[in-house]
Amino acid sequence: MKVASLATSFKLCVQKDPCLFFGDTVKRNIVSLAMNEIINTQNPSKAELYESLLTRNEAFDGFYYVCVVTTKIFCKLSCGARKPLESNVFFTNSTQDAIEKGFRPCKRCRPLQGAKSLRPLTLQLLDEIKASPERRWSGEELKRLGFDASTVRRAFISDFGVSFLKFAREHRLGAVVETLKNGHPIIEAQLDAGYCSASGFKDAVSREIGSNPSEVAKRPLLSAKWLETPIGPMLAIGNSDGLHLLEFAERKALVREINETKKKVGPICFQELPLFDKIQTQLDEYFAGKRWQFDIPVAQYGTQFEKSAWRMLQTIPYGEVRSYSEQAKAIGKPSAFRAVARANGANKIAVLIPCHRVIGSDGTMTGYGGKIWRKEWLLRHEKKNGAQVEPN
Ligand SMILES: [Zn+2]
Repeated sequence: MKVASLATSFKLCVQKDPCLFFGDTVKRNIVSLAMNEIINTQNPSKAELYESLLTRNEAFDGFYYVCVVTTKIFCKLSCGARKPLESNVFFTNSTQDAIEKGFRPCKRCRPLQGAKSLRPLTLQLLDEIKASPERRWSGEELKRLGFDASTVRRAFISDFGVSFLKFAREHRLGAVVETLKNGHPIIEAQLDAGYCSASGFKDAVSREIGSNPSEVAKRPLLSAKWLETPIGPMLAIGNSDGLHLLEFAERKALVREINETKKKVGPICFQELPLFDKIQTQLDEYFAGKRWQFDIPVAQYGTQFEKSAWRMLQTIPYGEVRSYSEQAKAIGKPSAFRAVARANGANKIAVLIPCHRVIGSDGTMTGYGGKIWRKEWLLRHEKKNGAQVEPN
C-alpha cells in the first residue's frame, strides 16, 4: 500500500468531519497529527515523493515539500508549476528547514499557507506524553524539564486550539476510561489520573466525555485502527465485544456509519487492541488466498431482518455467489429482495460478512459501497482460490 493513497483516503475521510474520532475540544489539528503519524511511521521513499510531485498528488501537502536546487524555490508537491528533474530536487518535511537552507516559498502554490505542520516544541511534548501517558503535568513539571510554560501553552493553543495542560489531561482521561471499564473501582482510576479529589475528577470526566465516571464505565469505549489490504486501507472499529465496523476507507457512507456507531455504542479513540492484530493477520491470509473463513467476533447491531440477512450472507460459501432473490428466499421472505439489498448495504463489516457475494440475478455486479471494482476483485480472487478450499 502506497503511503500517498493511504494518506489521501484518510484525509478525504476526515475532511468531512474533522472531529470524527475525537472529543469536541481537540479538533482539526489533531487530524494533522494523525496524518503525521501515518506519513512519518511509513516514511515515503524519495521515489514515491517524486512520483507524487509528477502526478500533483495532494496527499503530502502540508507534510512534505520539494526544494528545487536550480531555482532555490520550494513548493508543495501538488504545485501546478512545471516539474523539475529528479536530480535537481530534494524533499523536506519542514518549511522551516527549507527556509533555513535558503529556499524561497513558491508564489504559485504558497507552501506556507494551508495545512501547517506542528511546531517542533509541540512534537517534543507529544513524545513526552506518549512516553509516560500517566504522568500528571503541571506548570512546575514543565519548568523542571526545562520548558517555559507560557511558550508551551502558546504552541499548543496554536497547534491544537487547547492548552498543553488540557491536552495532556485529555490523554490521561482516555487511560482512565480503560481502567474504569476493566472493572477497577473509581478511586483507583482517579489515582491513576492523578486527581486528588473525587469531585474534581468527576467534573473533569463529565466535562470531557459528557457523563460522570460510573456512567462512562457503562458506556463502551471503542477503538479504531487503519488496516492494510492490497486493495486499499480499511478502517476497523472494535472493542472487547468484537468488531463493530470494518470498511474500505473510500466507502462513501463511512462517515455516517462512524457517527452512527459512536451514537449507538460509545466514543471512539485510536488505541491498540489485540483484536486488530488478529483481524490484520486473518485479512493478510485471506488476501494471500490462504484463508476462506474468518474467526473474528462481530458485534454489529441491526434490526431482526438485517441480522437474518447478514446471517444468510455468512452461509454463502467462499468462491460462490447468490442473487438478491435467492438470499430473500433463503431467509423465508421471497418477495423482500429489495429489503435484502438494503440490508446488505447496511452491513458495516465488509469482507468478513460477505455482502460482495450477492449479485444481480442477471449476473451484474449491482452495487457495492466499497466501489464496484473491489467487489469484482474480491469475487475474482475468491473464484481463483476457491478450488483449494478443503471440504470439511
Ligand atoms: Zn509551487
